[in-house]
Amino acid sequence: MSIVSSGQIDAITGDGRKQNIVVYGLTFLLWPAILSSCIFATSFGIQTEHAATYFNITYLCLALTLFTLERALPHEREWLKNDGQMPADLAHTLLSKGFVQVLVVVGVTIGIAEAAASKGGGLWPTHWPMMLQVIFGLLIAETGMYAAHRIAHEWAPLWRFHAVHHSAPRLWFFNTGRFHVVDTVTSILLSQPLLFLAGAPSDVFIWVTSITAFIGMLTHCNIEMRFGPLNYVFNTPAVHRWHHSRNPAEGNSNYGENLMLYDVLLKTFYCPKRRPPTNIGIDGPMPTKFLGQVAQPFRRNQMAAPLDHTNADGE
Ligand SMILES: [Zn+2]
Repeated sequence: MSIVSSGQIDAITGDGRKQNIVVYGLTFLLWPAILSSCIFATSFGIQTEHAATYFNITYLCLALTLFTLERALPHEREWLKNDGQMPADLAHTLLSKGFVQVLVVVGVTIGIAEAAASKGGGLWPTHWPMMLQVIFGLLIAETGMYAAHRIAHEWAPLWRFHAVHHSAPRLWFFNTGRFHVVDTVTSILLSQPLLFLAGAPSDVFIWVTSITAFIGMLTHCNIEMRFGPLNYVFNTPAVHRWHHSRNPAEGNSNYGENLMLYDVLLKTFYCPKRRPPTNIGIDGPMPTKFLGQVAQPFRRNQMAAPLDHTNADGE
């Protein structure tokens, strides 16, 4: 929607603020431009055989870019306020993403993949251009990641752990890694073997892991961006904000990690035109400190899994 005010053409943001029409147009370009930049840097790192170094630098640059843009172009001003949970978010990130992913994904999975590749690599189409192999890898990995995420919502024993991620009272780039370590491990165990069994070469593992990390941080950021039809293809912030709704009828949707393919096919896609809720989280007990959150899934008073599978629009 656009209006003319004082000779200046403005657009209206989702929360009723006026926005310069040029900035409005740029908000459509931000997500693809940032992700493309990360992919370009990853490509350079893989080509020069410094994939890990370039990934770490790119990931840090991505964090700094999102931190800056969250203040310049916030989607939700309420979410800029300190929720007192940054130490817990950081500790979960270091434990889950740092320890587990480095140890399991890089140390074990890629090692096994290389061993599998040296024995013939199974049916993997190694003659395809790398870009098509990466898309194929993303599709295979998504099968496991969608299943793992959906089970974490619909099976009470796993929801106890996944609830830690959903208990965040606001979305911003910093709580991308706020996952209970058990949640991270079960998600990896349910999703990574598919790629391994398919015989994916190590470069495809690096690509899929890197793109998952980039899209994951973008998905949680608090930046006013627009996506148009990209919402039906990728797990964008617009789609993921509905997933964090406190209302299970809205939140039990959009399980895709990178791609929305399975959500569209299995009718768990949910992205109505109205603005997603600001008051996100879970209706159940969750401590605000790290150790309390690590212990909470093992306590008796953890809330039950949100089993309402019918979304708010009755689909
Ligand atoms: Zn979830």
